[in-house]
Amino acid sequence: MQTISCRFCGTSLHRTFVDLGVSPLANAYVEPQELQRMEPFYPLRVYVCDACYLVQLEEYQSPEQIFGDYAYFSSYSDSWLQHARDYTAHMIARFAFDASSQIVEIASNDGYLLRYFKERGMAVLGVEPARNVAEVAIEAGIPTLIEFFGTHTARSLAAQGKHADLLLGNNILAHVPALNDFIMGMKILLKPQGVITMEFPHLLCLMKSNQFDTIYHEHFSYFSFIVVEKIFAKHGLTVFDVKELPTHGGSLRIYTCHAEDASKALTHRVQELRSRELRHGFNELATYTTFAEQVQATKRALLAFLITAKQEGKAVVGYGAPAKGNTLLNYCGIRTDFLDYTVDRSPHKQGRFLPGTHIPIYHPDKIKETRPDYLLILPWNLKDEIQEQMAHVREWGCRFVVPIPRVEVLE
Ligand SMILES: [Zn+2]
Repeated sequence: MQTISCRFCGTSLHRTFVDLGVSPLANAYVEPQELQRMEPFYPLRVYVCDACYLVQLEEYQSPEQIFGDYAYFSSYSDSWLQHARDYTAHMIARFAFDASSQIVEIASNDGYLLRYFKERGMAVLGVEPARNVAEVAIEAGIPTLIEFFGTHTARSLAAQGKHADLLLGNNILAHVPALNDFIMGMKILLKPQGVITMEFPHLLCLMKSNQFDTIYHEHFSYFSFIVVEKIFAKHGLTVFDVKELPTHGGSLRIYTCHAEDASKALTHRVQELRSRELRHGFNELATYTTFAEQVQATKRALLAFLITAKQEGKAVVGYGAPAKGNTLLNYCGIRTDFLDYTVDRSPHKQGRFLPGTHIPIYHPDKIKETRPDYLLILPWNLKDEIQEQMAHVREWGCRFVVPIPRVEVLE
């Protein structure tokens, strides 16, 4: 058997955090004419390093294949735009960035966030590997390098005299295969008194709320705070503040500076979160190795619910076609034998099929036509919003069900 090693410390990995079987890429929605073709499946097995406790996936596909032509345009989501506006205002107020400041964003997408800094007169630069998305940003006047960020990008910018006052990356850290090269690159690009902020899903929330469906091939690493602190420290960067955010079921925003920069005081939040994770046993291997049983119990409970519903002659359909739904359905082996179809508001997904399970995706109006007995909410993090939007299904006695954190028929 081929041995694989930790993407941070290089120790060989042999401890399983959770094994979700084999799955297609979670964003590989299937076109009707592709249904008869072979579909690639990859193992979805997560390891925990027993030396540094970084929870991680083995890399099965090259990042170019996964991110070369990315279908998700962040500007489409209202809540993300609000998040970006709030972030910009907060950062400018706190760190007094002005017209002389250089802002660099890694994985800048279509430039939705950088344009708020640009409106305030600052120099902005995006780095975005997905060409189709980067081109939208460039057309909108946000200068963008079309490449993967790492020491190579950082050295070439530094050679042109370009360094960052603010270097930020939202929802990128989990996607980085060459983690050490990426963080070394940030160290090179950051001005002596510059600030780095990174937002990423928090492992503590993933484990506490049983969010195993947020595990998919595009997410290579799953970070706790103590591990992220250790990784940045190794590269001469100090995490001086942290904020807990509700995004993606619970995320962290870390604030980082050069270890040599004495101008930034460590906040009490750093100490508090570190102690909380230690209380949760994040520095003990046993904490990680018990997660798998919780995941298997959820699978059994969801299948038990579906089997009972079907035996009673009930119709169950899905709501939403998010990437996380694909992990859940493939892991549990749920196809049209249990779930007749799902619906999604995105016109990009309607008319296509879920990867692996080949469950068809329709417009939400389909639900009024077929009047199912249960609506399984796949993006469980939006359950309040969806229950409100779909309140009319209660007219014929349809009930809402969420699979995570535990299978529950909502009242
Ligand atoms: Zn390690």
